[in-house]
Amino acid sequence: ATPVGLLTGTGRGAQLGILIKGPQVLEDTRTVDTILLDKTGTVTTGKLAVGNTLAFDGYEGKDVQRLAGAVEAASEHPIAHAIAAAAGEAQTGHDDGGRLPAVEHFRSAPGGGVVGTTEGHVILAGRTAWLTENGVRPSGAQLEALADAEATGATAIWVAVDGTPAGIISLRDTVKPGSADAVAKLKKLGLRPILLTGDNAAVATQVAAAVGISPDDVYAGVLPAGKVDAVRRLQAGGAIVAMAGDGVNDAAALAQADLGIAMGSGTDVAIEAADLTVMGNDLGQVAQAIELSRRTLAIIK
Ligand code: ADP
Ligand code: MG
Repeated sequence: ATPVGLLTGTGRGAQLGILIKGPQVLEDTRTVDTILLDKTGTVTTGKLAVGNTLAFDGYEGKDVQRLAGAVEAASEHPIAHAIAAAAGEAQTGHDDGGRLPAVEHFRSAPGGGVVGTTEGHVILAGRTAWLTENGVRPSGAQLEALADAEATGATAIWVAVDGTPAGIISLRDTVKPGSADAVAKLKKLGLRPILLTGDNAAVATQVAAAVGISPDDVYAGVLPAGKVDAVRRLQAGGAIVAMAGDGVNDAAALAQADLGIAMGSGTDVAIEAADLTVMGNDLGQVAQAIELSRRTLAIIK
């Protein structure tokens, strides 16, 4: 039988926009002492703005954007949405009525990038490892250009055409208005917050500083499998681990965590893997859920 207090807690959670998979979840929530926070879409809005587009010799910025946009249109990653939307906008007013070229043979690798064929060319977009895995070798100067873009705090994405780097698209994300307060509250509740991201270290460190996470607790450049390993390592060290995320790339880590928390705006796989979903997409609700579980169980005792 489920204690009445837990059921009441579940109901109270629903009122607050916190959906809990079962009464047992509140009991797990209470004991959590470490919380891994995915960056993109969890701590930040995930609504990225496309900034500079750099085109290498033989390419033009508008072509780099259009080709990348066409392939990214098939991906649900926040980076993909931003690039596809910007490319679509740039097309508006053209003869084709703003439509991006069609794509064949689309494939995406969570935490890596996308590939597809459009206008007769094979287009890759993604991080450095995704390019090299697919046999594309950027030159030293091109790698430097990427490092320069990242040093400004941008997320920088390679675009390659038929096996040759064609350009770099820079994007910027915004920290959610409630994230800093939420991190402060989590710390007050005795939790150690850790920022976990597949993005580069410069961006991750800036976001951590903006919300009050220690630079020692920033895990950047982490692939989806690495996110699961991060949860396991902390658990092996004796921590009771919560993980909050929204992406396909977070799902396995959400399942492995003692408490998996999904953003309501997140992908279906993330929501399915999580124990608890915050409908307002706000980290403040995560702190609220932990507070609620502690209060609810205190009442039962
Ligand atoms: P996060 O942990 O911040 O949510 P991901 O693990 O989803 O990030 O992605 C890590 C990195 O992989 C991104 O910063 C980007 O370089 C690359 N990447 C992932 N998906 C895409 C995509 N659809 N297009 C381009 N690059 C991508
Ligand atoms: Mg995310």
